[in-house]
Amino acid sequence: MYQFSYLKAQSISEAVTALSSNPESKIIAGGMTLIPTMKQRLASPEQLIDIRHLEELKHIKIESNNILIGSISSHFEVSTSDIVNEHMPSLAKLAEGIGDPHVRYMGTIGGAISNNDPTADYPAACLGLGATISTSKREVKAEDFFLNLFETSLEEDEIVTQISFPVIKNSCYMKFPNPASRYAMAGVFVSKSDTEIRVAVTGAGEAGVFRWKEMEDALSKDWSVTTAESVKLSSEGVMSDIHGNSDYRANLVNVMAIRAVEKLINEH
Ligand SMILES: Cc1cc2nc3c(=O)[nH]c(=O)nc-3n(C[C@H](O)[C@H](O)[C@H](O)COP(=O)(O)OP(=O)(O)OC[C@H]3O[C@@H](n4cnc5c(N)ncnc54)[C@H](O)[C@@H]3O)c2cc1C
Repeated sequence: MYQFSYLKAQSISEAVTALSSNPESKIIAGGMTLIPTMKQRLASPEQLIDIRHLEELKHIKIESNNILIGSISSHFEVSTSDIVNEHMPSLAKLAEGIGDPHVRYMGTIGGAISNNDPTADYPAACLGLGATISTSKREVKAEDFFLNLFETSLEEDEIVTQISFPVIKNSCYMKFPNPASRYAMAGVFVSKSDTEIRVAVTGAGEAGVFRWKEMEDALSKDWSVTTAESVKLSSEGVMSDIHGNSDYRANLVNVMAIRAVEKLINEH
């Protein structure tokens, strides 16, 4: 490791001021991605601004049929939250399936979405449920937040403070995890509310998480497993790497989507 300074921020505003005053500084939350990245010299911030202990960012509550999750809530806290388990078990299950116990205790929801790894799970829930992301500056719809691989609409001096998920009980996440890391080889989040059906895909898109419109349109016309089986994701634009080529991944997405719809139809 090389030299850097460390600031234990006492408030969101102190963290924002520190971020704005030095473009070479970075927020650290769980450190699950940032620390390994620094060890590999892929990032070399001059200053780490620690927000993990800020009480104002640590909550899970329900208000006006939205689950509000403070950005430093760990995956473990989300997966074991009574509120999340009661109102949106799909989200609890998603959090429970992230990485390993160490990653779930340390990793945070805010860090996960800010990092926007193309194989991360939470981006699929955000798009699949139509979440709103609150930052130190504004509120952003999930559609406008995730831009590309490891790229979000966050500005340099902006901090994610809270994620608001509309409660849609009729929702399900199916993931085929990479056996080594548990990141998604393909993950599909399906939700069916009174007004719309959403299908969000992670782990597969060359530009990261995306909404699978063709599947959404087909399921909106006919909500059935047969329909889910009939729509095939084209392998064009699907990632290909040492873990699997694009045809393989596209097929995994199809299978995960069918499983999610099947589960929802059987349960509701
Ligand atoms: C072995 C391993 C397995 C994993 N498996 C999975 C998996 O199966 N599924 C999955 O989805 N993820 C997985 N992860 C990722 C993990 O879930 C973490 O969520 C992720 O590493 C980032 O969260 P963090 O809190 O550790 O962020 P950090 O590492 O602290 O930060 C990551 C990035 O986000 C920025 N950041 C952090 N918090 C904020 C904020 N509030 N506002 C603005 N910017 C912020 C930081 O500056 C940094 O650039 C895995 C990680 C590891 C190491």
